[in-house]
Amino acid sequence: MVRFTVLASGSKGNCAVVSGGRTRILVDAGLSCRELFRRMRLAGEDPATLDAIVVTHEHQDHINGLAVTARKLGIPVFFTEATHRAWMRWLMPRRTMTYAEWLEQCRRQAAERQGETMADEGEPDAESEAEAVCESQLQNLESEAAPLPKGDPTWLPAVEYFEAGQPFAIGDIDLSPFTIPHDAADPVGFVLASEGIRMALVTDLGYITPNVKAQLHGVDLLQLESNHDLEMLRDGPYPWPVKQRVLSRVGHLSNEAAAEFLSTGYDGQATYVILAHLSENNNLPELAQVAAERALAPRASLLQNRLLLARQHEPLDPIFF
Ligand SMILES: [Zn+2]
Ligand SMILES: [Zn+2]
Repeated sequence: MVRFTVLASGSKGNCAVVSGGRTRILVDAGLSCRELFRRMRLAGEDPATLDAIVVTHEHQDHINGLAVTARKLGIPVFFTEATHRAWMRWLMPRRTMTYAEWLEQCRRQAAERQGETMADEGEPDAESEAEAVCESQLQNLESEAAPLPKGDPTWLPAVEYFEAGQPFAIGDIDLSPFTIPHDAADPVGFVLASEGIRMALVTDLGYITPNVKAQLHGVDLLQLESNHDLEMLRDGPYPWPVKQRVLSRVGHLSNEAAAEFLSTGYDGQATYVILAHLSENNNLPELAQVAAERALAPRASLLQNRLLLARQHEPLDPIFF
């Protein structure tokens, strides 16, 4: 049986549980571990049965409880490499260095090594030597991932990398990650499939690219961002730079943009459409709902497209297929 449960959605935390066959995974862990477990139990899910966590991007509302949850359950976390690195930088900002500083450090270390070995092979290739030193440092870092000291805030039981555009599987669930336009290191949406049921999760995107549109074809469940009402955002309390960020091509999808997609770009095949990541300041559930209902109205006769609104402060009832 396939089950999809939204535990939370919005700028204060995002998290969903997807079950298929004997596998259960968490998509994002934007709630504290304690709250996440509480909501799982409320929704009839047992946290102890989770097999893995997959992460869409490193913004805080998607990773808040990530480390604690993964450690407590001893389960692997699946990231893109760039998202993993961004997450580590977020946890350890003081260790951050610019690319120029990093290269300089590599050069210095390479020079020290050369000083030690002082070979008589003519012109040394400082550039490739520097790269080789750094490469070995990176490998060391990665191979040390498991036994890192307990005090390291970036320590995780296991880290697995995936790439946008490269499908992979976790147990009985197949995942297709795809790139979304958003101001994070390497943000992705997912289509998750199990037992012939396909579920798409796409929030935190400035607009719907042709590739995103193609990915959302033929899904049985569509969780789509409907972040803000354009007028509410324009007239609302956010400072202008924040408004600009939200409205930008790497910001968030408005009710209007979601509706536009639902009426013109979407194939109408999903049994469930879940509007998600609604802003508490710049949106009202009614506005998001009305916009989507209007867009879906011509397709109502298909008895599909049951419209649901994901909530920030409580889980939705699990959806069963
Ligand atoms: Zn978000
Ligand atoms: Zn985000």
